[in-house]
Amino acid sequence: MSGRVLSFEPPASRSGSFLALELLPGRVQGALIDPTGRFRARRELTFDPSAPRAEILAEVDRVATGLARGSALGGCVISAGGVLDTARGMMVQVVDMPSLEGCAISEHLRALVHAPTVLEHRARLQVQGDHYFGPGQGEETFASVATGDTLGVGILYQGMILAPDGGRSGAHMTVASGQITCSCGKRGCWRTIATTAWLREQAEGLGVLEHDLAAWERRATWDPRAAVVVADYARNIAVGLANIQQLCMPGLFILHGEAARASDGFRATVLATLQDLSRTGGETEPRLATTSLGEDDSTLLGGVALLLHRGLPSIP
Ligand SMILES: [Zn+2]
Repeated sequence: MSGRVLSFEPPASRSGSFLALELLPGRVQGALIDPTGRFRARRELTFDPSAPRAEILAEVDRVATGLARGSALGGCVISAGGVLDTARGMMVQVVDMPSLEGCAISEHLRALVHAPTVLEHRARLQVQGDHYFGPGQGEETFASVATGDTLGVGILYQGMILAPDGGRSGAHMTVASGQITCSCGKRGCWRTIATTAWLREQAEGLGVLEHDLAAWERRATWDPRAAVVVADYARNIAVGLANIQQLCMPGLFILHGEAARASDGFRATVLATLQDLSRTGGETEPRLATTSLGEDDSTLLGGVALLLHRGLPSIP
């Protein structure tokens, strides 16, 4: 696949390919991408997220070295969720991969691939990817939404990515006080009702085997109980989006992942709930968009956009 770059020319001094990595609980994926957004190679490995740090880093290293071999790298970027110290390239709080807490992953990768390396929050890179290579082209304010096993929102506001220290993506905002306990220890996080894990809990509760939205939507065509679960899930996603609309008014929400691949009917329920909950009168109605970019590709492409824009740290 290829991306289209409208807003910038890659500086000639940064020729060569970029190594973009994404580290998720249990999975590391990476791509070698040229400055025009063309994917030249991809790799992915899975691991046990509760494994010791050395084991997880060994899988990251295999993906990175496999891709970097024989290429002149213009830079390397790695994205992750959780609380990150991006200035120091360190993972601070990673609830689903506890052994990586305190890991200076940028330094580790820089020594491995011999290229300037930056760590950035996944949700922010997804915004960059949508802005430079996806449906956010030409938009100055919008939200980029990850759905599925990972939930998170990155916001471009009047041309600037909202980027508080540490990084927050909205997954742990409280939306249903006193309900389910989250992996972070808090109760009622948006994440506890609007990720695929919630669908798996519903399956367990009803004694059925459907484990993701596509399967639940198929079941909903004949099982009214499943139709209720699917509609609830759509509303659960919309509740978080509505809070974000109330606060920042991104207007446009670009969906990635499970909700982007769902039926038009599912997204119609998300949109109707979002419009209903965020209506304050006078303002433009919120809109939804989906993208043909693969659900992780925006993040990887966003990493390349970041490397091209922000300038790279020099190798000590
Ligand atoms: Zn939480």
